[in-house]
Amino acid sequence: MSEARTSRLHGTGLADRIRVSFEFFPPKTEEMEATLWESIKKLAPLSPHFVSVTYGAGGSTRERTHATVKRILTETSLTPAAHLTCVDATRDEVDGVIRNYAAIGVRHIVALRGDPTAGAGTPYAPHPGGYVNAADLVAGIRRIADFEVSVSAYPEKHPDSPTVDADIDMLKAKVDAGASRAITQFFFENDLYFRYLDRVRARGIDVPVVPGILPVQNFKQAKNFAERTGASVPRWLAERFEGLDDDIATRKLVAAAVAAEQVIDLVDRGVTDFHFYTMNRADLVYAICHLLGLRPDAKEAA
Ligand code: FAD
Repeated sequence: MSEARTSRLHGTGLADRIRVSFEFFPPKTEEMEATLWESIKKLAPLSPHFVSVTYGAGGSTRERTHATVKRILTETSLTPAAHLTCVDATRDEVDGVIRNYAAIGVRHIVALRGDPTAGAGTPYAPHPGGYVNAADLVAGIRRIADFEVSVSAYPEKHPDSPTVDADIDMLKAKVDAGASRAITQFFFENDLYFRYLDRVRARGIDVPVVPGILPVQNFKQAKNFAERTGASVPRWLAERFEGLDDDIATRKLVAAAVAAEQVIDLVDRGVTDFHFYTMNRADLVYAICHLLGLRPDAKEAA
């Protein structure tokens, strides 16, 4: 019988070099809090490089983001990264948040401009006394303490950006200001990521550009999300979920297969770091990480 699969994942020890990070959002209700913590407990034994917690539009989750990050620090051995935006806040207010993080032991911030207060797609105006954009925020964070700073990247360009080159100029400004990692918006066609990466490298940007992976828990929701963020949804993806709106069990199996296919192809093409948009759910992400060769660390699981 011939070898079933010859992915780079097998037989090369590559699985030992795979590094994953998980993104969560701060819960709004007690029920959501319970779901989040079940997910964190399930995923923690996979020893992620870091876990990040998003910051709500307009700073609406400021306290909840802080509380979630603090609980991760005190109750787990995970390394948290706190997302932070420039929206609707003065520099002093944002600096206060940064100093608070430094004081409780947070060492990694994901620095973002954020969406306009009136919603994505409306014109962005910086707060009169605030950080003007993500690059300005990165510089501010680096002035306050020696944080590791990650920033966003858009393989299909940010909807506000006139061109991919303008977008890459912004990424360059963020890296020049001190960011040491970019995490991409999710994408479904790996070629888009590699084409973007070529342009980023040609522009002299040499930080890791970690692919953001969105396992599709709910196709309709993912499609809406994609429309708002400028990510394209290929026809083949829609076809795979066709007719499954009311069939959660099959949808989940298909979702796992689709995401597995995407990450294994990325591995085969040399990618070793992955950032998962978990939507606070562990099952699909756990299964995909298992396929990537990650196994629970006995110490973390205890
Ligand atoms: P930037 O990188 O600063 O800009 C993106 C592009 O828009 C650039 O190409 C730039 O040229 C262009 N641009 C910026 N400002 C202008 C302008 N005034 N006029 C014209 N073009 C402009 N959002 C949250 O609210 N909370 C989060 O926790 C969060 N986490 C995220 C994590 C990741 C990994 C990613 C990819 C996105 C996240 N977002 C989050 C979404 C993000 O805030 C939005 O996409 C926002 O609209 C842009 O912020 P940014 O830092 O990505 O922008």
